[in-house]
Amino acid sequence: MKTLVTGGAGYIGSVTTRLLLEAGHEVTVYDSLAQGHRAAVSDGARLIVADLGDADRLDRAFRAGRFEAVLHFAGLIRVPESVEDPARYFDHNVARGINLLNACARHDVGRFVFSSTAAVYGAPDKVPITEDAPLLPASPYGDTKRVFEELLLSYERACGLRTARLRYFNVCGAHAGLGEDHRPESHLIPLILFAALGREREFHIFGDDYDTRDGTCVRDYLHVADLGRAHLLALDALDRGGLLYNLGSGAGYTVREVFAAAEEVLGRKLPCKVSPRRPGDPPALIASSARIERELGWRREKDDIKQMIADAWEFHRAHPTGYPD
Ligand code: UDP
Repeated sequence: MKTLVTGGAGYIGSVTTRLLLEAGHEVTVYDSLAQGHRAAVSDGARLIVADLGDADRLDRAFRAGRFEAVLHFAGLIRVPESVEDPARYFDHNVARGINLLNACARHDVGRFVFSSTAAVYGAPDKVPITEDAPLLPASPYGDTKRVFEELLLSYERACGLRTARLRYFNVCGAHAGLGEDHRPESHLIPLILFAALGREREFHIFGDDYDTRDGTCVRDYLHVADLGRAHLLALDALDRGGLLYNLGSGAGYTVREVFAAAEEVLGRKLPCKVSPRRPGDPPALIASSARIERELGWRREKDDIKQMIADAWEFHRAHPTGYPD
């Protein structure tokens, strides 16, 4: 299939681009490189360096590319930043996304796979979380994703686009030399590894007084290659629309458990201290991915948290200061 991958120079977008190429798809990456990295774009993919805010450039790309499918990863992802500047988040994650949807409508693109997030659920009382849990985002970030999901349904009704909304939980690991390089970094596993590399003096546990088995937050970690494979399955299944899937492993690890697993993988003690809670962190988020397993036959190949950390470590050791820019 001729595919357009927005945000294909970012973490999950770059891994999915690689998997699409391996599966024989033709890939054009559309990325402003404001967050993404040129070095993360696999040989074999065409790269257009442009912003989704540039509707004319987007239109030209669609005219030339004759895309059959769009996978939309581009967007802003930092919860605290979205609280400080919600307008910027609505601009990037909603308004620019509408440019993309309009280009799809104008150029008769049939398939659209969207990177959504567990943040659309907020802090649900019931875990594991199923797709029919109430949508109560606790941040502007989560709200921008919720709104864009709604828009997808409107475009399905109005323009015949067939869409898949994939709600990610905590994604980690690395694949084929492609890993996580956010600047600044805010995610748990890279920050533990930064402490190991000496990029950070120590790792901070954000709060150890939650009502969980060891007082630290519980999250559901999924290997990025397993997540990428879910996109390929969704893409193939888009002969019909309205697809909606949670993507996690169904297992929950506390921050302390992940930290201990990292120490085991690295075979040494790492510097660590307990810091105050990070505002807005729900105590526990665990996905039920039963629906995508049942409907699309999705199976995880890399369920072991130590394997996820070992893969991430291999990437960070190879790129101790991140991708070259
Ligand atoms: N966390 C932490 N220290 C850090 C970064 C994260 O204790 O330096 C915790 C955070 O509070 C959350 C979990 O690790 O409970 C996962 O955080 P991350 O930012 O990776 O993902 P999120 O769950 O926020 O999407």
